Amino acid sequence: MISPRHHTVGMNLSETSFHTLPLAAGLLDNLASLGYRDMTAIQAAALPRILAGSDLVGQAKTGSGKTVAFGIPIIESCEPTGLTQALVLCPTRELATQVSEEMQWLQGGKGLRFVTVYGGTDIDKQAKVLDAGCDIIVGTPGRVIDMSKRGHINLEHITHFALDEADRMLDMGFFPDILWCLERLTNRKQTLLFSATFPQE
Ligand code: ADP
Ligand code: MG
Repeated sequence: MISPRHHTVGMNLSETSFHTLPLAAGLLDNLASLGYRDMTAIQAAALPRILAGSDLVGQAKTGSGKTVAFGIPIIESCEPTGLTQALVLCPTRELATQVSEEMQWLQGGKGLRFVTVYGGTDIDKQAKVLDAGCDIIVGTPGRVIDMSKRGHINLEHITHFALDEADRMLDMGFFPDILWCLERLTNRKQTLLFSATFPQE
């Protein structure tokens, strides 16, 4: 069976290899071992700009490889310190889980600690996991805010903030929650917003 991650039929690949990017050798080796050679169109357009430090709004249809477009630069920027340096917000628990798993798979042996934070799970258990420290949080807005208010997520050190499926998040009424996070991300250096459509908000 072909893993869906390797099912690239119909994918809009560019002719530019990941090796043209200024990425750590370990990360490039891992991408190659995962079978990633050429970037998709959105990746080829977005990755050089994000890696150069720009904020970016990326719009591309479903299945065009947006997770790699924001995931790789976040992985490249973070170090395994146990202090939360990046926050990725997704509209649903399924998407948060999927993005978190894909980013962990993409990082190879870098050793970044991820915690996936979404509602409907045991708060005390999740608090213990968060209190042990993590480098990257991927989650849904409601639970991320709840855990921040309870003191288990510290937004202050976070430098990288990404919104995935921003259009769906706005449709689901998460705009105030996103603003709540933005106001408290006082050390934010880069903001990335990825979406299949371009929401006016
Ligand atoms: P989107 O978020 O835009 O809907 P995904 O990030 O989920 O798309 O990617 C869709 C699929 O394409 C995933 O299975 C992913 O592993 C694969 N993929 C992404 N980038 C590449 C690439 N450069 N080469 C091959 N496969 C890729
Ligand atoms: Mg996606």
